[in-house]
Amino acid sequence: MAKTVVAGGGIIGLFSAYFLNADGHDVVLIDSGHPVNCSTGNAGMIVPSHVIPLAAPGVVAKGLKWMFSPKSPFSLKFSMDPDWARWGWLFLKSANSKNVQRSFMHLKEISIYSRQLYASFVNTHKEEDFYWGEKGLLMLYRSRHGEKEETGAARVAALAGLEARVLDAAEVRDIEPGISDSVRGGVLYPGDALISPGILTTFLYKYLQEKGVKIVTRREVSSFRFSNGNVVSVIAGDKEYTCDFLVVTAGTRSADIARELSFRLPLMAGKGYSFMSRNTLELKQPAILSERKVTVSPYRDTVRFGGTMEISGRARGVDLRKVKGIAESLGLYYEGAANFRLPEPDTVWSGLRPVSPDGLPYIGKSPVMDNVFFGTGHSMIGVSLAPATGKIISDLIGSDTPDIDISLYSPGRFA
Ligand SMILES: Cc1cc2nc3c(=O)[nH]c(=O)nc-3n(C[C@H](O)[C@H](O)[C@H](O)COP(=O)(O)OP(=O)(O)OC[C@H]3O[C@@H](n4cnc5c(N)ncnc54)[C@H](O)[C@@H]3O)c2cc1C
Repeated sequence: MAKTVVAGGGIIGLFSAYFLNADGHDVVLIDSGHPVNCSTGNAGMIVPSHVIPLAAPGVVAKGLKWMFSPKSPFSLKFSMDPDWARWGWLFLKSANSKNVQRSFMHLKEISIYSRQLYASFVNTHKEEDFYWGEKGLLMLYRSRHGEKEETGAARVAALAGLEARVLDAAEVRDIEPGISDSVRGGVLYPGDALISPGILTTFLYKYLQEKGVKIVTRREVSSFRFSNGNVVSVIAGDKEYTCDFLVVTAGTRSADIARELSFRLPLMAGKGYSFMSRNTLELKQPAILSERKVTVSPYRDTVRFGGTMEISGRARGVDLRKVKGIAESLGLYYEGAANFRLPEPDTVWSGLRPVSPDGLPYIGKSPVMDNVFFGTGHSMIGVSLAPATGKIISDLIGSDTPDIDISLYSPGRFA
């Protein structure tokens, strides 16, 4: 039995451990925190519809325009840090239609693959209530500009072979009756799904432990021992764990580990917020409020609202102006939400998305060492792509050819 250490227990590390364990590996999963990571309080949307990477035309202009607006959903905070400068340069170079054209079919393929793996995962673990929902995702818009953006995205999705239904205001109201009169319409992606990320991660921790995975929490992977150009053991706290393989799934901190392993992995933290509320608006349909980039995830009696993407370093502190921006957006799209109560500051969750400069994940072998694999950089779609990432990593370690083409996701592509 090959011994594999997984460094990082967010959703990517958990699904890597899940598939490695199922493949018969002796797995040790080490996490520096638990349960503090990006995987617990996100919007839980499984989104094959998201085939346009973050690095796309117009995004830099938007970031600059919104930079000075305290409530804006997207902001880039410049820094003199050389890693920031390099990442920013690569992001600028990637934010164009060429990047979208080369990526969208690949993103569709991996998302559909992951969506299928989710369906069988949920079916295998029927005893657990993940709040799994298959109502699709509704992108709502109020402005002509929002309509143009969303119908344009729908055309790209349709080109990729995904179902995307453009709906007028009345059709949108048939799905979600509480929509405000100012909503012009929406695009429904029936293939998208919803899960509770908190229940999912808690379940995986418990399940993996029961299956014999050794889980070590509150211990940071800090250094390594090498032999013949490969990692032979991992040092975390005062303990050393020998390994045949190492899988790095440490979210935004994966770049630090890559540096220890002799290569550069451009990665920035993209902070976002969410909060739970009682579902007093009786919302049924998972949605994204397009102009405000706010996510709406109804879980029966409760609903989670989320948003913002702040590329501004790794501090997890909450900027309440951004949270106010999220709460105020609700009144623009839903009847009866004009005076939506701001959440108590200590109930606001924040998470740091690991963001690569071209908007594509890093999945595969390290460019330097044959027994080290990376799964990170998933940005806004880490939950969506977690099963696919875990399965691909497990296949690669088992010397099986992955079921899908992973050539665009090489961790060494900027090395
Ligand atoms: C507001 C918001 C909404 C979102 N909504 C969605 C959504 O609807 N759908 C979707 O698909 N995605 C969504 N995302 C993105 C998604 O949450 C992330 O892409 C995903 O959680 C990243 O998972 P990860 O495992 O790579 O990183 P993380 O969850 O951050 O996990 C990394 C883990 O590594 C550990 N670690 C770090 N350094 C070390 C070390 N040296 N040693 C050991 N352990 C270490 C950390 O403690 C952490 O537990 C959202 C994100 C935000 C912020």
